[in-house]
Amino acid sequence: NSFGLYRQYPNNPTHNPDDTIGLQDLADGTAPKAINETQPSSISRLSVIPDDCTSIAQSYFPFRNSTIFGLMNWMWTGSAMKSICEMKNLIDFLKSDKFKKEDLDNFDIRSETSKFDKYLDNPSAFHSKQSPQPKASSPKDGWHESEVRILVPDLKPHKKEDVPTFTVPGLLHRSIVEIIKATFSDPASRFFHYTPFKSFWRSNIEGSQSEQGQRIYDELYTCDAMFSAHEELQKQPSEPGCTLERVVVGMMLWSDSTHLASFGTASLWPIYLYFGNQSKYLRGKPKAGACHHLAYLPKLPSNFWDFYFALTGDGPPEEVLTHCRRELMHAVWALLLDTEFMHAYEHGIVIECPDGVFRRFYPRIFTYSADYPEKILLATIRNFGLCPCPRCLISKDKIPDVGKVYDDHRRNTTSRIDSTARNFDINTARRFIYENGEGVKSAAVERVLRDKSFVPTTNAFSSLLHFGFNLFQMLVPDFMHEFELGVWKALFTHLVRIIVSEGKIQEFNKRYRQIPTFGRSTIRKFSQNASGMKKLAARNYEDLLQCAIPVFDGLLDPEHDKAILSLLFTIAEWHALGKLRMHTDLTLGWLHECTGNLGTQLRRFQSYTCSFFDTRELPSEEAARRQKAKKTPSSSRKGKIPTRKTNQDPPSIIGPELKTPKAPPKKKLFNLIMIKLHSLGDYVNTIKLFGTSDSYSTQPGELEHRRVKKYYARTNKNCATRQITRLERREHILLSRTQSTIGQEKQTGFSIERAGSKRRKSESLPYTPPEYHHHISTSRNFPLHIQNLLDSTTDDDPAIKDFYPRLQEHLLARILHPTWSGDGNEYSDEERSKVFFINERLYRHKVMRINYTTYDVRLGQDSVNARNHADIMVLSSSDKDHPFEYGRIISIFHVDVVIKLDKAVVSPTPVSKEVLWVRWYKRDSSYDAGFKKKRLHRLQFFPCNDPAAFGFLDPDEVIRAVHLIPAFRFGKTSNLFSEESLGRAPGEFEDWKYFYVNIFVDRDMYMRFAGGGIGH
Ligand SMILES: [Zn+2]
Repeated sequence: NSFGLYRQYPNNPTHNPDDTIGLQDLADGTAPKAINETQPSSISRLSVIPDDCTSIAQSYFPFRNSTIFGLMNWMWTGSAMKSICEMKNLIDFLKSDKFKKEDLDNFDIRSETSKFDKYLDNPSAFHSKQSPQPKASSPKDGWHESEVRILVPDLKPHKKEDVPTFTVPGLLHRSIVEIIKATFSDPASRFFHYTPFKSFWRSNIEGSQSEQGQRIYDELYTCDAMFSAHEELQKQPSEPGCTLERVVVGMMLWSDSTHLASFGTASLWPIYLYFGNQSKYLRGKPKAGACHHLAYLPKLPSNFWDFYFALTGDGPPEEVLTHCRRELMHAVWALLLDTEFMHAYEHGIVIECPDGVFRRFYPRIFTYSADYPEKILLATIRNFGLCPCPRCLISKDKIPDVGKVYDDHRRNTTSRIDSTARNFDINTARRFIYENGEGVKSAAVERVLRDKSFVPTTNAFSSLLHFGFNLFQMLVPDFMHEFELGVWKALFTHLVRIIVSEGKIQEFNKRYRQIPTFGRSTIRKFSQNASGMKKLAARNYEDLLQCAIPVFDGLLDPEHDKAILSLLFTIAEWHALGKLRMHTDLTLGWLHECTGNLGTQLRRFQSYTCSFFDTRELPSEEAARRQKAKKTPSSSRKGKIPTRKTNQDPPSIIGPELKTPKAPPKKKLFNLIMIKLHSLGDYVNTIKLFGTSDSYSTQPGELEHRRVKKYYARTNKNCATRQITRLERREHILLSRTQSTIGQEKQTGFSIERAGSKRRKSESLPYTPPEYHHHISTSRNFPLHIQNLLDSTTDDDPAIKDFYPRLQEHLLARILHPTWSGDGNEYSDEERSKVFFINERLYRHKVMRINYTTYDVRLGQDSVNARNHADIMVLSSSDKDHPFEYGRIISIFHVDVVIKLDKAVVSPTPVSKEVLWVRWYKRDSSYDAGFKKKRLHRLQFFPCNDPAAFGFLDPDEVIRAVHLIPAFRFGKTSNLFSEESLGRAPGEFEDWKYFYVNIFVDRDMYMRFAGGGIGH
């Protein structure tokens, strides 16, 4: 297509879901929220099921009519709070012709809900009563409740048969096969990819180094793992007598334990299932119903302690508890990977797809996202043992080598592979424990398992071993926990310690507070006290990283300042690359290189830079340590044996009376032996296999947690988990019903209010269609007489010097030479005098929205206004060394203009022209910046008497908004011009001397500067 993208399929695809995707569908991430919430834009009108009347009537099933369906839908989906948005939805529904008052006869919310629940519990019975329907359309993927058994080690020898078992009740789960059946036959699955492909990109720009096409990595179905799984599947002998197309079901699993409420201990441990056949952009939308709740894991119940006590006469030691938790996890998975699933894995399941074609589907597990503690639980390796990595056999002390060449090599040669030999070892160890009565960590067990840090638990995923499944490969690195909340958080914390030790913390916090916001929520306002790091989520750490360079700039003495700025630049670049949503061979090369740089700089930082500072615990860390020290002795009283490392302080019992002699905070050093650091080296390979990191980051799972919490808020907290399953089913079915009926409805235009506008009279800009380059209101509500504007300021305000003639000139150039852009074209006074402004007025506007194509060929949108998001970038016309020019918008307005020329009237009717009045920045070319120098580009305003300082700009030329951060180090200056001016915000008399261009503010910005963005 026009971006130079093309695809290579292994065989002819029978179904290409992307044919039906319109511009609307690409606009997800940045589309105004209101739209996402009212309607999932994923529904295209082009490919709905044939809408004969029966299907409409059926689609409300099991409800009698559209009225009841609508009411139930409102009741059981969306937010449980009485929010304005929810009320608006209800009113919209009541007004629509789907609502009929007479339908409400005999309607009772309780009985209707219980009827609905009954239907969900046993839909097939329900169906046969009401209307005969094909089996495929009745969902059987409801919840089941089961119990699982685990073997308990009690240090006594047993015969194989009578090892003590403990039963854990209350496992709520659904059948994987039924979920697959329901999902792939659902009309919403018409956007699923059945055939994986490789996509390539050939740059349109001449002279770029990518002459031959570059491989693109983004979705699971464009990457190697699914591609080879597909090819392997086609090579297999087909099922006897079966000629159906064979399709890989790309399973992507998530699990993470979550707290359900801010207070109390209520928690839930869900396993989510997503399908990689679906685009990650759809998967990311909470309303798309793409997330399937597979199970809610039980915890070890409290009567386990009694059970163990009865067995041994003692409480269970920590190692037994750990062991039993592991056993439990794998017992659950063994139950989920049931015989039905195994059969489907081998022989496939036949499903009728929404296009009416029968296909044979083979489930395959590709990724399992979890945080590190859960990963080691799944990998059945020990927590931070000798070989702490779930993917390879690197030893702990080699972790800081990340990014070195032989480190990459070692990852490949020692990668963990599940094998029969491994399982044999584990069975041996289990015999020692259960039949010989050895301890879980006894010498006999250690001898077998210690080398590779395994634990004596049979891994449930090993049951897929004979199909060639390697369970260790699925444990993908997790961007959010491992980088944003891992490596970066650790580095940031240590940098804060350094700043504290230098006594610069006030200045540091002040700088963070002054950083302007950007975008809808790209950079949020920083808290009063950034160094306190209170209540920060991953996205807050992301913001801290993206804005770090100007903050740290110049705080330390020059030598360390230099090193730290370079380190911050590299880590920000790594963050941008690691989080790209579309990679090419080129960008993966950069990521690889950047990993190497980052490793080198981190090692130097730790061994050299850090040694100059006396870094101490931060107040919060100190408090946490004291808290811990207070807690530990009390918990040991409960019979647990506290395992204490020797290098720690003895537990001093700090009562309230002992608080007075406060010890100085402990010394803290920067530690590179973090498993999270090690996993940075795995990104390049993982992206090649499974697609970009956003596709399996734990972030979407965290979003899903919000839904679970919302459910929890609606339960009466008694048997909450079971009630949550009910609510989950209700909403899921209703959402999918809505999706299948929605295609028949017309999409109406939505108007959104500009978010965060506090002024009453502010104009609200309606929804910006993605086809436009930019959007400025056409209202004439804020007229301004040009002469009044000129009179209102002092004569020597440089901002309005020559305002009138220059505006005339600007418009003349635009109207007479529409293809030629830029100013500098000189017109004579006489020519200028032919430009007339109707009523001598400008019509001012507050906002302009700019649509742009992002690097991953999707639509982005920026909103700029003169008040707080005023900085924009345009393509540079004069500067050879730098691709962009930057300006600050003083005002957005349009004028109605007429031009009268001598011979003919060029524009007899007035034309409306939109104009941006801009104060220009110039690049500080004396400052070496860019990727090689690892510095951000520096800008300053033009001196006020420079004719280039102010100017007018055609909004068509704006590329997008830009995030400029003041260079705090250099302070403010009033040299440019001292009086109050229209060129500045009211009440301000100074400008920052310099600004930095924040190229890391989002991935799209980074790719604009780095080059190689496909959509650019
Ligand atoms: Zn590893």
